[in-house]
Amino acid sequence: MVFQLTNEQQMIQLMVRDFARREIEPIAGRLDREGIFPWEILRKMAQLGLMGMMVPEEYGGSNVGAVSYCLAMQEIAYSCPSTAVTMAVCNLACEPIVAHGTEEQKRTYLVPLARGEKLGAFAVTEPQAGSDAAGIKTRAERHGDYYFLTGTKMFITNGSYAGVLVILARTAEEPHRGISAFLVEPGFPGFSVGVVEDKMGLRASNTAEIVLEECRVPASNLLGQEGDGFRMAMAALDTGRIGIASQSVGIARACFDEAVRYSKERKQFGKYIGTYQAIQWMIADMATEIEAAKLLTLQAAAHRDRGEPITMLASMAKLYASEMVNRVAFRATQIFGGYGFMKDYKVERLYRDARVTTVYEGTSEVQRMVIARQILKGA
Ligand SMILES: Cc1cc2nc3c(=O)[nH]c(=O)nc-3n(C[C@H](O)[C@H](O)[C@H](O)COP(=O)(O)OP(=O)(O)OC[C@H]3O[C@@H](n4cnc5c(N)ncnc54)[C@H](O)[C@@H]3O)c2cc1C
Repeated sequence: MVFQLTNEQQMIQLMVRDFARREIEPIAGRLDREGIFPWEILRKMAQLGLMGMMVPEEYGGSNVGAVSYCLAMQEIAYSCPSTAVTMAVCNLACEPIVAHGTEEQKRTYLVPLARGEKLGAFAVTEPQAGSDAAGIKTRAERHGDYYFLTGTKMFITNGSYAGVLVILARTAEEPHRGISAFLVEPGFPGFSVGVVEDKMGLRASNTAEIVLEECRVPASNLLGQEGDGFRMAMAALDTGRIGIASQSVGIARACFDEAVRYSKERKQFGKYIGTYQAIQWMIADMATEIEAAKLLTLQAAAHRDRGEPITMLASMAKLYASEMVNRVAFRATQIFGGYGFMKDYKVERLYRDARVTTVYEGTSEVQRMVIARQILKGA
């Protein structure tokens, strides 16, 4: 498939690139070193319409589609992968509300999320249930007009700062059909933020534990019907995964640009290292793999924009792009030699930031399971 961006998509790409290089790039290293959550940047990104890119305009979104979302995500990730994951999860939290929210839920929760007035979070993972998302134990028991949620959610991106959290909890025993989704505000009684994680990378993003102790949630905050939660979450994650694939492509492009520049500046044995075939082959492999990941990702996004199923394509894009960025980050730090190991150089940060892409929103092993299942059932 030959991919041709529309004029609007190209404009969005250039606008976000210009914004990210001007506003984010100069401070991304400090945000990482000092673990600063980028509030000010996020406010500006909200003004640019980046927090609800697939949300209809009547609900505060910019509704520019998944391809534009991927292009924007690449550009933000190029400059700051931490900011990119924060943005990714805000867009992810909108997905099930757009698809299943009542008019009242959309007005109350989707509008402020899409406008970026509140940050979103999407809470599935628990201490004993990661890849096996259907193994969650958090319970939701209904008493009158409220559900009472009890359990612990782990590793929740934006967990400390989200104004709206989509939380999965169990309303019945059946593994998949017993799971429901709820819209939860941090001010609800029984909600608290637990451990805030100290991470290898993405150090300017927030990852926190959420503790629910008979957390009182109005029954009207049930998203869809009881038992719809797992299916809803998996559908949202299809789009989420092309977001992480795009984050991977953005990080890889940044590694690549750094490596090419350095190979033209650094001399050893009297010649620029870029004149040696060993370095040239690394550069050629990096460029080829980045291009392949970019096309896989945009293809999945284009299918989504046409309303077609993307489960397999999204998993392929996420699997390939996330493994690709780890290879590219490895090669980029290799090209930098000892300097690549030092915190003064951007590739050191990118190498750490790249690592988690093969883990969150489904590990590489889970993506392979999804792809194989789709193939074997004849999708
Ligand atoms: C920075 C960060 C942010 C995150 N943000 C969120 C968030 O916002 N919301 C959220 O809900 N979660 C979030 N997560 C959690 C993330 O989605 C999980 O970490 C991930 O799904 C893996 O789960 P686990 O860590 O429990 O690993 P496990 O599931 O315990 O897996 C351990 C290893 O076993 C492998 N494995 C497991 N099952 C199988 C199998 N059947 N076959 C083969 N191999 C298998 C895995 O691939 C992995 O290699 C985040 C995680 C991180 C690190």
